[in-house]
Amino acid sequence: MARYTAPSDYPVQHPILTGVLAQMVADAAREEGRRETAFPTLARYSDAGKCARAIGLTSLLDEGQIDDQADEDVAGQFRMWIGKILHEHVMGAIVATYGGEVEVPSYLGAYKGPTGDVMALEAGHADWVGVVASASDLGRITYELKTEGSFGFDKAIGVNRKTYTRDIPHGPRASTKIQGAMNAVANDADTLILGSIAMDAISVGLAEKLQMSAFDRICAEWRYSRAEFAPWAKDEMARAQFIAEQLNDGMLPDRVAIGDEMEPVALDPTKVQSDTGVPKQWQCAYCRLRRVCVEIGPGPVQLAGVRGVTC
Ligand code: SF4
Repeated sequence: MARYTAPSDYPVQHPILTGVLAQMVADAAREEGRRETAFPTLARYSDAGKCARAIGLTSLLDEGQIDDQADEDVAGQFRMWIGKILHEHVMGAIVATYGGEVEVPSYLGAYKGPTGDVMALEAGHADWVGVVASASDLGRITYELKTEGSFGFDKAIGVNRKTYTRDIPHGPRASTKIQGAMNAVANDADTLILGSIAMDAISVGLAEKLQMSAFDRICAEWRYSRAEFAPWAKDEMARAQFIAEQLNDGMLPDRVAIGDEMEPVALDPTKVQSDTGVPKQWQCAYCRLRRVCVEIGPGPVQLAGVRGVTC
């Protein structure tokens, strides 16, 4: 039998067709700018666990002073766009099946803002709030959905695609749990449900070996009672309150975020890459304030000395 000619498998350096949509999405995101908050606040629920320095700087700087992510991160914008489409379809399916409300806005806490006005500390939108008649013991539910790449999905459900084995499941990210908790508290929910949809399904072979169902290959869900989620929201609100007090005292908060185990993590934006080239400080790698943050330097610093900030 004749052999096929060996192909060249190196991708071209500049795709002219395949990246067209990604570029359009990034351009549209730049034009749209940042999404308006539900209420003017120090932070959003979606900032859950985010670096305190980043929250402080975002509240102080104009949009023009923050690096334009759409310019730099076409890949991130494209991934977000795909996730958003999926998200809208899932919410539509949930409402068609169970009723309930989507994109429910709420706010929590209060603080005196830079102008002296009293503002809410945190605000956001719950993906879905409602009751499932066939699971009425769950009471009023607040639901939060995330789409995940294979790394995040596998870690959450406890699967190792390389070794074809089960791992210990880590559940949704800490930031997702805290974000969901704040929505659940603000919407007076009895149960918080967090959902995850994989952007890359577990293979048929691995699912067969691990006795996973067809649904397990692409999605997972976790339920938390009020006794579990309410303390997460309380801790995050206390952290936001502390950030607000520091800003009101003329200080820019230190570079501290909340890690995977809900522990404080000190960040260093100059160490985004480790010696082996593996990203270490991933929060900083994705941060639009990295350039400004490196310029400012470490530690809580006096706002009066920060260029571009008027206080
Ligand atoms: S670069 Fe890192 S330390 Fe600096 S504000 Fe962003 S996340 Fe925080």
